Amino acid sequence: MKKKILSILLGSIGGIILLALVIIAPVLMILDFFGANITDGYIENNSQYANEYIKTVKKNIKAKNGYVSLERILYFYLADNSLTFDEIYTDNLDKDSKKLIPISEVCTIQKYKVLDVCKSENISSSGQINEEQAKPFAPPINFSNSNITSFFMEERIVYGKEEIHKAWDISSSEQEPVYSTCDGIVEKKSFPYLINKIDKNGGTGNTITISCEIDNLKYSVLYGHLYPNSSTLKVGDNVTKGQVIASVGTTGYSTGNHLHYQVSLNDKVIDGMSLVDFNYESDYYQPVYPPSLHGYEDFQTSYKN
Ligand SMILES: [Zn+2]
Repeated sequence: MKKKILSILLGSIGGIILLALVIIAPVLMILDFFGANITDGYIENNSQYANEYIKTVKKNIKAKNGYVSLERILYFYLADNSLTFDEIYTDNLDKDSKKLIPISEVCTIQKYKVLDVCKSENISSSGQINEEQAKPFAPPINFSNSNITSFFMEERIVYGKEEIHKAWDISSSEQEPVYSTCDGIVEKKSFPYLINKIDKNGGTGNTITISCEIDNLKYSVLYGHLYPNSSTLKVGDNVTKGQVIASVGTTGYSTGNHLHYQVSLNDKVIDGMSLVDFNYESDYYQPVYPPSLHGYEDFQTSYKN
């Protein structure tokens, strides 16, 4: 598996160039892992990752810890798969600040120090790698009533069609409230479905997109498969962080009631969970219990969109 992933990476950079640049190849691979385009087939055999990753994430949601992205975990896991996801998660998370520990610091831990990926001089030269991630978002849903059913960049098959899922899917009961993760403005609203039903040609079903500007960064948050008539908002309306904007449904290309939570930054899709402050306190967000994952093993053949 590791070999396969590496060969994909190598292939994407270009075999000839790499032959000539064998010495800096590891650096290029590192940059590729953390680059903007993290989709390109790197979640191979992801049924093997899925359970481990989701288990680790739900445990940390329960503990209201911060969030470590999958690509950060894979960065070390692929270098040494005797390290567990859980172990890597713990080593890469500052529990007080709820933020990622800069990778240069993680690389000073003995077990990582010895890995090739930590020996590169260029690790600390990438702002993206060492950037402290802020957690400006409130949870889009009460995680105690929900299950994570698809993770960001998961490769999966829904209704027989293979795809990479560029969002998080969180299943919940019908009409469970959905909250705005940030202060913003309703950018788009599309509610064509008047009854809560699946339509395989219906995309993300009833949706609201809210744009939020935080620290001069423009985020766009799309909430999909929403329940019919569950929102009175109009395009141009202001919304506040933690405000109920709609409720959970299963409209559009879906297999059950769930929220499709998708975040873009400057029109590029990013991992929206990495922005969520699990310590956010509000009336709706109380200490969370682990979301259960029943049925997750079936995701290869059919799961939520
Ligand atoms: Zn989805």
